[in-house]
Amino acid sequence: MKKLGFGLMRLPLTEKGNDAAIDLEQSKKMVDMFIERGFTYFDTAWMYHRHESEKAVKELLINRHPRESFTLATKLHAEFFDSAEGMEEVFETQRQKTGAEYFDYYLIHDIEASYYEKFTKYGAFEWLKNKKEQGLVRQMGFSFHDTPELLDRVLFEHPEMDFVQLQINYLDWESEKIRSRECYETARRHGKSIIVMEPVKGGVLSVLPGTAQRLLYAAHPDWSPAQWAVKFAAGLDGVMMVLSGMSSIGQVDDNTAYMNDFKPLDKSEIALLAECARITRSDVRIDCTGCSYCTDGCPMQIPIPRYFSLYNAEFKDAGHRSWVSQKDNYKQLSAEKSKASDCIGCGQCELICPQHLKVTAHLKEVAECFE
Ligand code: SF4
Ligand code: SF4
Repeated sequence: MKKLGFGLMRLPLTEKGNDAAIDLEQSKKMVDMFIERGFTYFDTAWMYHRHESEKAVKELLINRHPRESFTLATKLHAEFFDSAEGMEEVFETQRQKTGAEYFDYYLIHDIEASYYEKFTKYGAFEWLKNKKEQGLVRQMGFSFHDTPELLDRVLFEHPEMDFVQLQINYLDWESEKIRSRECYETARRHGKSIIVMEPVKGGVLSVLPGTAQRLLYAAHPDWSPAQWAVKFAAGLDGVMMVLSGMSSIGQVDDNTAYMNDFKPLDKSEIALLAECARITRSDVRIDCTGCSYCTDGCPMQIPIPRYFSLYNAEFKDAGHRSWVSQKDNYKQLSAEKSKASDCIGCGQCELICPQHLKVTAHLKEVAECFE
């Protein structure tokens, strides 16, 4: 299996800013190109694209390609059930939405300390094992957003898991908060195969500060920054798949071209990325990956990741290029949606944020900056 997976969470839209409005015609072309070039892995989840991604799977894949020509992964998130029966309901609804009789990969989604308690309380691991025994799931695993210590415990308590999905990219590799390298080493110690999510950190590593960009360009003028990031993750031992949430035919074209005969980075290239990480780290104010998990439950419908992206852009590369303020973009967006200062501090977003961001505090910074 080729090591690039198609993440179905950043598909093109027919209406800017409306995540539910997936552009199916454009997406069909992207999916077809991906399969024609020999790639097979597709990754969706219950809440991607405001719950429309799994439905899109039916239109893009199940109704148009032989089932054995691709593999499909989806997930069970703790926020969407409150009983053992609730897990079953989610699973059956996923089968109906996607039209898939079985899932090749099924993940317990987004394990962190409190969700682990909930999954354990409702017997999610045994439930998933049962699904595998029934042939409804081929491989079982979980995605993880917490400390290496907790990962060690989960893997010790659940050696039956086939694989682990981790946030790995060269920016988070040595990060004290994400502890990407330590999580990776923990999973390897337990002998698990690894699927990588966020190799480009929600796009942060596709547009680097000028100094970092120039370093990479000097080494390989024909490689995009995203290409460097995906190659870093794909070159690690034990990584079976690297997911990329693709949004345009150009991205599919680029990703599949360089991942077709993928070669791992050498030592000097990896050292260059460590230097780029150092430069980029000081440039990113809010560590948001743009996953949008937080937006669905926000009672004020604040476009949180879009505001964080504007805020980061406002400070990007300060001192290295001409100043282009994001204030006008903020003004335009906040005229259509709620403002950052409309946050009522209910905390829903902070409960679900896989990056454990202090969203309410960051929104105050955004409001102070732009309003
Ligand atoms: S704390 Fe603010 S941003 Fe977060 S969900 Fe509540 S209202 Fe929305
Ligand atoms: S604030 Fe957290 S949940 Fe919301 S988009 Fe950013 S990383 Fe995702």
